[in-house]
Amino acid sequence: MAGLIPQEFIDDLVARVDIVELIDELVHLKKAGREYKACCPFHDEKTPSFTVSADKQFYHCFGCGAHGTAIGFLMEYSHLDFVEAVEELASRAGMDVPRGDDAPVSQGPSSAPLYAILEQALGYFRQQLARHPAAPEARSYLQDRELDAEVLERFEIGYAPPGWNNLQQVLGKGPAARQQLLDAGLTTEGSRNEPYDRFRDRVIFPIRDRRGRVVGFGGRVLKDDTPKYLNSPETPVFHKGRELYGLYQALQIQGHWPRLVVVEGYTDVLALAARGIGYAVATLGTAVTEDHLKPLFRLADEVVFCFDGDRAGQKAAWRTVEVALPALRDGCQAAFVFLPEGEDPDSLIRRLGPEDFEQRVASATGLTEFLFSHLQEQVDLSSLDGRARLAGLARPLVEKIPPGALRQLVIKRLGSLTGLESPEVDQLVGRPHSPLRPSRPRLSPTTERQRPSLVRSGIQLLIHHPEMGAAINAPVGLEKLEIAGIPLLLEILDLLTQKPSLSTAGLLEHFRERSEGRHLTQLATQAPPMLSAKGLSQELGDILSRLVRKLDEQRYRQLAQKVGDGPLNDSEKEEYRRLCSALPRIENPE
Ligand SMILES: [Zn+2]
Repeated sequence: MAGLIPQEFIDDLVARVDIVELIDELVHLKKAGREYKACCPFHDEKTPSFTVSADKQFYHCFGCGAHGTAIGFLMEYSHLDFVEAVEELASRAGMDVPRGDDAPVSQGPSSAPLYAILEQALGYFRQQLARHPAAPEARSYLQDRELDAEVLERFEIGYAPPGWNNLQQVLGKGPAARQQLLDAGLTTEGSRNEPYDRFRDRVIFPIRDRRGRVVGFGGRVLKDDTPKYLNSPETPVFHKGRELYGLYQALQIQGHWPRLVVVEGYTDVLALAARGIGYAVATLGTAVTEDHLKPLFRLADEVVFCFDGDRAGQKAAWRTVEVALPALRDGCQAAFVFLPEGEDPDSLIRRLGPEDFEQRVASATGLTEFLFSHLQEQVDLSSLDGRARLAGLARPLVEKIPPGALRQLVIKRLGSLTGLESPEVDQLVGRPHSPLRPSRPRLSPTTERQRPSLVRSGIQLLIHHPEMGAAINAPVGLEKLEIAGIPLLLEILDLLTQKPSLSTAGLLEHFRERSEGRHLTQLATQAPPMLSAKGLSQELGDILSRLVRKLDEQRYRQLAQKVGDGPLNDSEKEEYRRLCSALPRIENPE
């Protein structure tokens, strides 16, 4: 996703936003020396170990290790993905996010009136539940479901009264407002192009996105009308395949959950919440998508999916497995609960209570277990043929799992079921998808072990004091030095030459999407070693000249090797002589 937003824009944004100002609005900061301190918003503490550096535009908690840039802070604190965090910061800074053609639907400034009118509509629906002459029926429906006032308040339940023109009369003052009602999906156009209210005589469930904005509504009939449940249509701000009912409310209780439960309906979420289970969310009448799952796997250690125990439920669970596999990250688990036939979480918890439900969820079937039991039903493992078929069936599934511990686990399990050795299975399922970047040539083991710490100190110095990079030229030929990290060090130097005003945070944002990014961010949390009076730039100069000496040493060894194999040409002889005379220096580099 990050690729869609030009890096130039990210550079400008990070330069324009002040992380101290941003964080101070959400967590009260106190000045402490050159930095700012607060009690950490990401873990429980009494004495502040959360620090924010204005110079580096970087935060770091010494207690729990949380750290990052302004973008990273918003992602973590407000549970946003990268694009959302960039949008949020950009709107604070008064900047428009430029997009490529294949960018997702923009939620730019033009969406603001839609959010506003949806919020107003919610206010209207809530008033009607309290006041409208036809509302008692809706209130008694909610009472019958044993939903108490606290839950109705927390989920802001409302009522759309009967009639075709209520919202238009209250909110549709003028053609612009009437168009917004239509664009927000609150009204719909009939055959005579006369807009009328979409939700009529229904209990209303407002849907807030993770940022707390009302994006749409669900409505349930009170009489025998169809459909029983009606949702807002797809609009510029509402995408069924992305939103989860109840996620906003769950995140209001706590930002990260050991476990989130995915159920099917609005009333399931409410029934569970009314009995103290505040970690249930529901898809909006659609099958689970990868867009649903990515945030869930980020916000919880385990995601448990609830299904009916019947055949349809088994089928839906299998579909979920296929969607979940690519989205699963290491350290996050997925599991499945199958409820007794004809029961949903709503009916079950009302009949058997919350302990029974929590018990079922705690003993849910793990994804790997479910995956293999489903596949095994289709083959006869006692025959060689059946075992080969199992491997064949598993192959496309295993290929979907990102490289990591889970993938290894599944491959191992497949090996033990089929009797194939792990390397054979590895080969069968293909190698893990390699990243798009071309791989770097592998260094020989001897060179790889050579003092990576020198390069590391150089990189660390540049991360903490990027302004130095602009003033220093990379030594000629250093790219030939076969030491781990050299290409990265040179890339950073080159970047800082081109963009001399990058802050620590700005530099880190260039590497967000790359495997090096995490390593660099880690280095940013560690203060560079105490420096001598020589000062920073001399320190960096020293590091570079020591690397140049290592380059000489490496070249000397190459030529010495070549001398043993045959004659050198003239320029090689000249170079060898030069390096020989420098030899004492090379042998005693420290
Ligand atoms: Zn912390």
